[in-house]
Amino acid sequence: MAFAHDTDIALRTAAAVVNTAPGTRADRAVDTLSTAESLQEFYETWGWTGRLDGDASELEQARALRGRLRALWLAADDAHAVADLVNELLRTGHALPQLVEHGEYGWHIHATDGDAPFARRMQVEAAMAVVDVIRAGELSRLRVCAADDCDDVLVDLSRNRSKRYCDSGCGNRLAAAAYRSRQGG
Ligand SMILES: [Zn+2]
Ligand SMILES: [Zn+2]
Repeated sequence: MAFAHDTDIALRTAAAVVNTAPGTRADRAVDTLSTAESLQEFYETWGWTGRLDGDASELEQARALRGRLRALWLAADDAHAVADLVNELLRTGHALPQLVEHGEYGWHIHATDGDAPFARRMQVEAAMAVVDVIRAGELSRLRVCAADDCDDVLVDLSRNRSKRYCDSGCGNRLAAAAYRSRQGG
């Protein structure tokens, strides 16, 4: 495993929220974070606890966060640029690191309270995870999907750094297309 378990989950969660925004791929034109219900579904899917208001302003903050997190992926070949973005996310997210132990994760850091606004907690959690990525010299694991028509982001947590395609089907899609072209149709 490249990172601590909570960092893995935080990175995958950050990629998932970025990828709720409409993508360049034809079947990814729909914004899947467009209602309070879809935000609640995201919250449940990714195992969040704590404050969730379910109102329009919370949804707007979550939607606005996506571009700021996507910028981390787009800057991933420049650690200083990513560090600047991370520091801005931590500063504007009012991060206050506290060492805690609960559940099954062992000692780890919470940098916001569970009663802070949800979008702010997502912001700070993502930034803290990218702190680990930078310190480990592993920014190359933050990638944009290698499919020509897809700009979804991904986190390569594989041992051999072999993950090239996003989780919304590009790997299978391209494999099927290659197979059909080999079969002559
Ligand atoms: Zn915790
Ligand atoms: Zn893709």
